[in-house]
This record gives sequence, structure tokens and C-alpha cells, in this order.
Amino acid sequence: MQFNPNILLIYTGGTIGMVKDLKSGALKAFNFKKLLQRIPELKQLDCNIETVSFDMPIDSSNMNPDKWAKIATLIEENYSSFDGFVILHGSDTMSYSASALSFMLQNLAKPVVFTGSQLPIGDLRTDAKENLITAIQIASLTENGQPVIKEVCLYFEYKLYRGNRTTKISAEVFNAFTSPNYPALAESGVHLKVNRDLLLQSNGKEFTINKAMDSNVVIIKLFPGINSNVLNSVFNSPGLKGVVLETYGSGNAPTDIYFISVLQQAIQKGIHIVNVTQCSGGSVNMGHYETSTLLKEIGIISGKDITTEAAITKLMYLLGQNIPASQFRSYFELPICGELSE
Ligand code: ASP
Repeated sequence: MQFNPNILLIYTGGTIGMVKDLKSGALKAFNFKKLLQRIPELKQLDCNIETVSFDMPIDSSNMNPDKWAKIATLIEENYSSFDGFVILHGSDTMSYSASALSFMLQNLAKPVVFTGSQLPIGDLRTDAKENLITAIQIASLTENGQPVIKEVCLYFEYKLYRGNRTTKISAEVFNAFTSPNYPALAESGVHLKVNRDLLLQSNGKEFTINKAMDSNVVIIKLFPGINSNVLNSVFNSPGLKGVVLETYGSGNAPTDIYFISVLQQAIQKGIHIVNVTQCSGGSVNMGHYETSTLLKEIGIISGKDITTEAAITKLMYLLGQNIPASQFRSYFELPICGELSE
């Protein structure tokens, strides 16, 4: 007998779930309970689809750690009854959410595929149908009764990426995401080609979720002329515990005394600072240039080739775990779920 996987579609909001009101022409939220009526093609898929929607679907600009926890809880509550999960999410902050969920869902052994679209599902030229149908197919892939994908991914415009490696690069073209430092996990063409060697393997431990995310963090992007008053006021923000510092090239920054001493004082106060490059590809390599040697010496953490989205959510996650200060750097610099290269 054929095995039909059970797939749970979780609708959080975003453009994908909109249709044009025939009378007014305005875009309005789509009733996901009527999904199969709207997209009859879904009936042809070899899986059973159930849907659950946020009570108040959101534009993903309103995404936050509480809503990440809501998604994680929905997955936890339905983990044993479903074989795969597809999260419909606005594209604007999808890479942040996919990164956050990759840390919150621990010991994942089933697929969690984020997708969305640039045009609403009710639009004639929509990219939503292909994204949704293929995301469901990917979440349904099994081999010997086991899911093929066992991690948090993002599917958009014919490519499946590791979620915590992605970044949104365009508000215009359908190919809105890239994964600058890790190849696509799968590509959809005439055939669905999965690059199995690139997939995360399950560790066999029991699935659990961790919702504690500490948002006392900030991203600072360096630019020539950044001044000490501004830096001082950010680093002296009450409660600040972690900073993602977007530096130049392979992790370089000004060598001015004022700059280094602001960072050093912050580290001495217990603030964790992670060095991430502003470049869209490549890795931080502190000590390669003189302009990063001091950063290494004062105890800045290397983000290596992590994206800013994964770095800030990993900071929130690790700060939520109350890791001893002396071990924080090694926890950050080691991958948890493939978000950086060793
Ligand atoms: N502003 C929308 C959102 O992120 C864009 C989209 O859905 O792609 O929710």
C-alpha cells in the first residue's frame, strides 16, 4: 500500500496568502480552510494536507520572538501526527525566522520548509503556486519510511536552501533569496534533485523545542566615519548583552584607539560581540589583516561565514540558554545546525 505522508501547512501571513477581491480589486487575506478549493492542483499530491493559520495573519515585518515561539509550539504539538511541516511566511523576514526556528527546534528529524511568494496566490502571474506545491512535495519526500529532509529549510523559486544560510536579496524578482556560503540543498527542474551529501542528518535524540530567546541584542553595521558618541551610546544601552558587528571584508575594522576601547570596555562588561562580514559572501578571518588582529586580541567572537540573520538569532538563542561567559565564544563558533562552516 502506498504511504501518503501527512503534511501540516502553517500560515503565518505574508503576500502568499492574499487574493484580489473581485469587486474592490484590493488584496485581502485568503481563507486557508478553503485552500484545496482555491488550488485544486494540491489534490494531485501524494500526501494528506491539513492547515492551521495564525488567528491574525501578519506581514512578516511584525514577526518577533513570541511569534517564533508560536510557530515552534505548533510544530511541537503536531510533531508526532505529521511527517513534515510547511510554513507560509512573508518573505521580508523569512531568513530571520528560518534561522531562529533552526535553533529553537532541537533534534529535528522531520522537514520544516519555509516558503512564501513575491506575488499573491490569487494573482494571475503568481509565483506562489509553484513555491507552495514544490515546498509540500519536498516536505513529503521519504525514503524507507523516513523523511529525506530533517532540517529547517527555505524553498523559493526552484531552490531549496538551508534556512539559516539564506538572505533576502530582492524585493522585485521571483528569485528573492540566496545562500551565499552554502550550496542549494535541492533544485527543482524537470526532476527534483536533492543534494544528499549537503543535508543535515538526525542525531537520533528526542525532539524538543526551546523558546527562550533573549532580545537584548543589536546589529551594528560599520561605515567609514562611525563616531564614538554613537557607538558609546549603543554599547551603553541598558540591558545590552550581545552585538553583531558587521565589519568590512574578512572581518576588518578601524584600528583607532577610541574604537577598540569602546569594544574592549563592552567586552569587559560582559557584552558578547560577534564579528560578521558585510560582504554577501565569504568568511571572517580575524588576524588575516592588521585591521582585524586587535579585534581577535580583545576577545571578539568570530562569526566565520554566518549570515547576519543567523548570527543575531543565534545570539538571542544562546543568550537565552544562560551559557557561562567563559564558554560563550566556543558555543558561538561551533555550528549548532549547519549555520556556519567549521
Ligand atoms: N511584506 C511582505 C511580508 O514579508 C512581503 C512578502 O510576503 O513577501 O510579509
